[in-house]
Amino acid sequence: MKIAIIGFGAAAIGFIEKMKDTEHELHIFEKSKDIYSSSISGIRADGKLFVSKEMGGDIDVDVDLQNKLVQYYIDKTEDGKFEQGSSFASKEYYEDFYSKGFLPIHSEFYHIGTDQLKQVLYTIYEDFKVHNNIHFHFNAEVQDIEPIANTVIINNRDSFDRVIVAVGRSGHKLIKKTINKFPDLITDNTKVDLGVRYEVPNHIVEELNREMYEFKIKYKSKTGYMVRTFCNNPSGFVVTENYGDFVTVNGHSKLKEKSRNTNFAILTTVQLTEPFNDPIGYGSHIAQLSNLLAGENKVILQTYSNFRDSKRTKHLYRVLPTLEKEKYILGDINLAFPRRIAESIIDFIENLNHVIPGIANEDNLLYAPEIKFYSNRLDNANFFNLKFVGDCSGSTRSIIYATAHGWLMADEILTS
Ligand SMILES: Cc1cc2nc3c(=O)[nH]c(=O)nc-3n(C[C@H](O)[C@H](O)[C@H](O)COP(=O)(O)OP(=O)(O)OC[C@H]3O[C@@H](n4cnc5c(N)ncnc54)[C@H](O)[C@@H]3O)c2cc1C
Repeated sequence: MKIAIIGFGAAAIGFIEKMKDTEHELHIFEKSKDIYSSSISGIRADGKLFVSKEMGGDIDVDVDLQNKLVQYYIDKTEDGKFEQGSSFASKEYYEDFYSKGFLPIHSEFYHIGTDQLKQVLYTIYEDFKVHNNIHFHFNAEVQDIEPIANTVIINNRDSFDRVIVAVGRSGHKLIKKTINKFPDLITDNTKVDLGVRYEVPNHIVEELNREMYEFKIKYKSKTGYMVRTFCNNPSGFVVTENYGDFVTVNGHSKLKEKSRNTNFAILTTVQLTEPFNDPIGYGSHIAQLSNLLAGENKVILQTYSNFRDSKRTKHLYRVLPTLEKEKYILGDINLAFPRRIAESIIDFIENLNHVIPGIANEDNLLYAPEIKFYSNRLDNANFFNLKFVGDCSGSTRSIIYATAHGWLMADEILTS
């Protein structure tokens, strides 16, 4: 069989590794000009490999396969060195969260180090390249996919028996174009995460930051909505993000400059059912409403007690915002957020206070809106010859899950 793989990232690596010793002819089309500039963004950025059943993707990947793939990457490093750890340093902390109704997200992590990353990728590429059935095409951006009967044509030119699309998030242009042509490919787009960025003094979460590698917990609030934390920034800064027609908040840490506060997102997953099919529209409208109240290009800032009691904030007390002054207005988030979302966030903070005393202090700060959109989930059953793997499929969000997705897809093809 002649198979095209579009993109050479984590998902493609999993697919090719499983396929490399077969008779199938594999053609890899990668838009980067060579292997040195190819962009496995995660591998390039931090190279942390996570093993977890609770984060990384929505497909079922057993822990044995995850460990096997971690080992695969580690084996490709020059000296086999890596740092290893667990998301919870102490069992007591885990149990404390659990006993209060939280779902603590557990993961093992393996940090292979930025300096080794280029070389890992290169070693994998060298290993694949020597196989006679594997052909790399760099500087080869795919702009069009057309499934016709038993073949798939790419770029109106080359035809293949199967096409595996593994373009990650950076391939959104190609995905959008394909979805526009075949809207039935989308199986799930009913979710959006809406919430706030929460900011507290460092000392309140000092122990938490020491004990947890990444502060990731979920909680089913009394409203029925799931609430989760995301993107914790010890000694970090709150920033705004401009989406063109609205502004949201985000947080980051700087390497040298440190603040006295820690910030993290508290997000409520809003899942609506049919006939609703526009989560981006719903999220955008709430963001625009917040911006309308705050003034152009600004976000709303409120103290926790005022948010809880539905009062406009007029003064701050002990916690001073790390967001630049001209980017926020003191106000009332309740005027923009639906009640169910506000109640879910309050319930989450009040309950969290049982594990982290001080987290519900009156003068802690909330910034709104913070929004996370989900990628469209694509259906791999729609076209027999056209498959989507890794982050572009909407089902993975990590190196190990994306690699596993490619691996499992190859397995499916080999055994079908
Ligand atoms: C800044 C950052 C840091 C991250 N850190 C981590 C981390 O530490 N650990 C972790 O597990 N995950 C991390 N992630 C997530 C991780 O990078 C992804 O989940 C994973 O790389 C997804 O694999 P993929 O194969 O789906 O896509 P990618 O690895 O992104 O690969 C897609 C490839 O397709 C190519 N491509 C795109 N469009 C086209 C086209 N039209 N034609 C041809 N080629 C195309 C791209 O150039 C790219 O090489 C991080 C992500 C980011 C953005």
